Parts: sequence; C-alpha cells; structure tokens
Amino acid sequence: MKKNERSRRRLYAAVWLIGAMLIVSACGAGIEEKAGVDAKGKLTIMTTIAQIADPIAVIGGERVEVNSLMGPGVDPHLFTATQGDIQKLQEADMIFYNGLGLEINMVQVFEQIGKDRPVLAVGDGIAEDALLHDEEGAIDPHIWFEIDLWQQALTAATEQMKEASPDDAAYFDANKEQYFAEMNRLKDEAEAKMAHIPEGKRVLVTAHDAFGYFGRMLDLDVIGLQGLSTDAEIGLTDIEETIAILTEHQVPAVFVESSINPESINAVIEGAAAAGLDVQLGGELFSDAMGAAGTEEGTYLGMYAHNVNTIAQALGDGEE
Ligand SMILES: [Zn+2]
Repeated sequence: MKKNERSRRRLYAAVWLIGAMLIVSACGAGIEEKAGVDAKGKLTIMTTIAQIADPIAVIGGERVEVNSLMGPGVDPHLFTATQGDIQKLQEADMIFYNGLGLEINMVQVFEQIGKDRPVLAVGDGIAEDALLHDEEGAIDPHIWFEIDLWQQALTAATEQMKEASPDDAAYFDANKEQYFAEMNRLKDEAEAKMAHIPEGKRVLVTAHDAFGYFGRMLDLDVIGLQGLSTDAEIGLTDIEETIAILTEHQVPAVFVESSINPESINAVIEGAAAAGLDVQLGGELFSDAMGAAGTEEGTYLGMYAHNVNTIAQALGDGEE
C-alpha cells in the first residue's frame, strides 16, 4: 500500500469514527449499514431526559437525530422550559418524554405542541399494576430503573418512529433487539453483583425516592429522604427515622444523587455519627439525570452500571 493511500484510509477511518461517535455516544451497540437512506432526511427527535435520548439514538441509528432537553445534573421534577427549549421542541419531528408525572411543569407545553406533531409519554403504556405508588397513591415515575419496564417504554417510542418512517421499521427493530440484549446482560450482571450484599444490609438510602423500581428489581429496601418528587421539604423526622433504620441494620453507607443537593444526605451522615454510628458516603448515583455526554455514565447502560458498581462496592461484602 502506498503511503498516500494509507494516510487517506486512516483519514477516512477517523472521519467515520467521529461520525459514529456523534450518533451513538459510546454505548457499544453497532449501527448497521443500510443502503439508500442517504437521500432521505433524518427523523429529528427531542426528548426530555437523556435516559430516553441515548437508547433511542442507538435504536434509531443513522436514521434519526436525537437530542435531550435535560443535561447532566438537571432535575426533571423542577424543570421548566425556556423559550429556546420550546423552539427546539417545535422544530422536532416528534417528542418523547417520560410522563407519569415526572416532567410536571412541562404538561401544558406538551399539550400545545402535541396538537401538530407526535408527543409521546413513553411511560403511559405501562400497565397500572406494574407501577409503584407512594403512600398517598402518587405514581412513581422513575421507571427507567426497572429494565423490563424501560424496554416497554422504549418499545412504545420505537413504534412511534416506525409509524413515522415505515421504510426503516426492520432497521429500528433489529437495532432494538440488539440493544435489548445488552440491557438483559446488564440486568444479569446487576443481579449477580447485588447478590454480594448481605441480607440484613440490603438498604439503599438516597436523597429522594428515585430507586423504588431499582430496589424492586434487585431486592433492596429503598429509603429516599425526599419523596417521589424533589419539590417537598425534608423534615427532621425524615432524617431521624432514616438514622434509626441505618442503626437497626448497621448499614455502612448512604448515597448522594448527581441532580440533587447533597445537604440532606450529609445531615444523615452527621446525625448518624452523633448517634455513634459510622456511616460512610457510598458515592454519587445517577438518578434523574445521567453523566456528561461522551463519558460512560453519559449512556443509559453506563450510568446504570455505575450505580450498580457503586452500591455493590459500598454495601457489599467486598467479593466480586
Ligand atoms: Zn426523581
């Protein structure tokens, strides 16, 4: 091979690689070549949370352009759309949001925009008896933490894409199957790692109640200092009750969340110390927001694995 040709090939490879990275943010799922699609425009999709955007970018592959409104550290319970956000939503071919009361301040915006383009709450199709509720009967919207439920939500989104672009139906389905296989592997790994947390210590304490589905799937008791939403106040009794449970079970660690002020969790650690219990900060979990784009934790699979590893390490028996 001549030198020129070799460097040209390297250049092509680099350009291809950068392109692929833009489409899929490092999540490992391959994108298959599909002939004849270049002539057509891409389906433009806006999502609220990145937990929808990242898997949909993989499933949609080269046929879609997906963006999420809410980046790292953004709390969807409190999020309100700016004029710029509304414009982005209005320019998209379709919009996917979680629903079930998560993006509570966006409801009117979605109603308005939904008049002239598909706006789908991906959680809406999930059977009522599969959903968790708090004591007051409010639905727990954090469904992305239960792999089976999230597959149902992503399937609903995929069906909407297939409707808008029937020629790509087989391509979307093939990508989805491949992605779901990775999700299933992640679920198996999570179950294996969580098995190393001793029976009495299976208590996950975080800043708000985002991990109910995670706990149901992986057999952990979950305590959030704040309720299902982050707009409630945290009382002294919430902190005292949590410390009592930590003491009872001798739980070694509690966790902060990337989208929530760490103050309340720090108060638990300090309160426990005053009561003579050594509780460590187990690390930072991604609950309602994912990590930065371009990092492992910026992907759905990566942020999930991060949470599993962080929890298993802090609460586990130290064995792999
Ligand atoms: Zn939440």
